[in-house]
Amino acid sequence: MAVVSLRNVGKVYPPTTKDGPSVTAIDGVSLDVEAGDIYGIIGYSGAGKSTLVRLVNALERSTSGEIWVNGQDIALMRERDLRTVRLGIGMIFQQFNLLGSRTVARNVAYPLEVAGHPKEARAARVAELLDFVGLADKAGSFPDQLSGGQKQRVGIARALATQPSILLADEATSALDPETTHEVLALLKRVNAEFGVTIIVITHEMDVIQTIATKVAVMDQGQVIERGPVFDVFSNP
Ligand code: ADP
Ligand code: ADP
Repeated sequence: MAVVSLRNVGKVYPPTTKDGPSVTAIDGVSLDVEAGDIYGIIGYSGAGKSTLVRLVNALERSTSGEIWVNGQDIALMRERDLRTVRLGIGMIFQQFNLLGSRTVARNVAYPLEVAGHPKEARAARVAELLDFVGLADKAGSFPDQLSGGQKQRVGIARALATQPSILLADEATSALDPETTHEVLALLKRVNAEFGVTIIVITHEMDVIQTIATKVAVMDQGQVIERGPVFDVFSNP
């Protein structure tokens, strides 16, 4: 079953200046991500990858086409229904986006607070998540006391807090050195294998795709120019 399915999706940004041009960021993209996939989306800067992620997470509205997430077309959905859809999607980011004034534990607890989980349930869940990402001993630390790899592991714990079925990773290893990148990718593989979370990995790095993805779509100028199993797309005949 496709958990994310794009049908001829377009996104045109309005002009940013009075007489400026509008920008076609996504131009007729169709894409099926099946349950359990680790789906890579690769392309150069400006190809439209981040816009695609923000469309799937409904942080941005499409200008045409259908976007099916967990069986619902979110393209026409009202804002208040989108909140429920977003609860089923976790996100991790290049700059980690942790709250500097909160401890590691309270960063991970944050989505649970927003979702209204009671304090005792939060504590148990946070402990479990920190254990999973190997940071139980850092619960009381602040983000600026952590390495980049540790910060991203906190990001992953936070993203998983509400038990999403989909995880969107937007350049999640681009700020990390190669060794740390491989540690984080190994953790994402465990997230996929142990929890069955479908993962969409946005990157400009071929190595990331080859390390973790099962399928890949290559984007250029807002379009998918090639797609398929990683082995087929990147093998040189
Ligand atoms: P990528 O993630 O592959 O670098 P983006 O989705 O960020 O690509 O950008 C695709 C295109 O859309 C680029 O031309 C970019 O300048 C433009 N763009 C992105 N966000 C906006 C925005 N908020 N307003 C106007 N143009 C944007
Ligand atoms: P508050 O001041 O809001 O009560 P706390 O630091 O007591 O903040 O806890 C916030 C959340 O962080 C709790 O819901 C709990 O889940 C989690 N938490 C706090 N400390 C730890 C810890 N040492 N280990 C695991 N989880 C923790």
